[in-house]
Amino acid sequence: KNRNLNKTHIFLPHLVASMEVEESYIMIKPDGVQRGLVGEIISRFEKKGFKLKGLKLFQCPQDLAEEHYKDLSSKPFFPKLISYITSGPVVCMAWEGVGVVASARKLIGATNPLQAEPGTIRGDLAVQTGRNVVHGSDSPENGQREIALWFKEGELADWTPAQAPWLVE
Ligand code: ADP
Repeated sequence: KNRNLNKTHIFLPHLVASMEVEESYIMIKPDGVQRGLVGEIISRFEKKGFKLKGLKLFQCPQDLAEEHYKDLSSKPFFPKLISYITSGPVVCMAWEGVGVVASARKLIGATNPLQAEPGTIRGDLAVQTGRNVVHGSDSPENGQREIALWFKEGELADWTPAQAPWLVE
């Protein structure tokens, strides 16, 4: 038993280095904060086994909301989306892990909460696209872009969770 544990400890850094470690920007939107869902939502990513690298409660200014959602600027719902995101504090998070971007999207569920599967955050906790409680990056590139956009240097922590060898063999 001890031999296996040691082996895990010794080889884990090599294993992790050879896999695709990504970062995802996850944000609890103002409705999630107002509805008291912060702990519930953070808990789902934490329990899955991803690593939290950044976390803050933040009142998003207009220009940052517009930059974050710039790809949607031509959509008819864009003005409403910006006023929604800036309507109250959001919780900004940077999560790291192997395959975290796609996995977080699965945990979050479909954009329209009525189409999101039960068991997903939106499927369990929301009913409308315009109030879908949480954001998750849609690609590893956007994960990095969004984390750089929402966090300043010094707001992200580099650390090794004690549970690491118990998550990946
Ligand atoms: P996702 O957040 O699932 O990646 P999109 O990138 O398509 O979805 O849209 C970004 C956000 O814009 C959605 O999460 C939602 O808050 C808002 N949104 C998208 N489509 C609509 C819509 N038809 N009406 C109102 N808000 C919308």
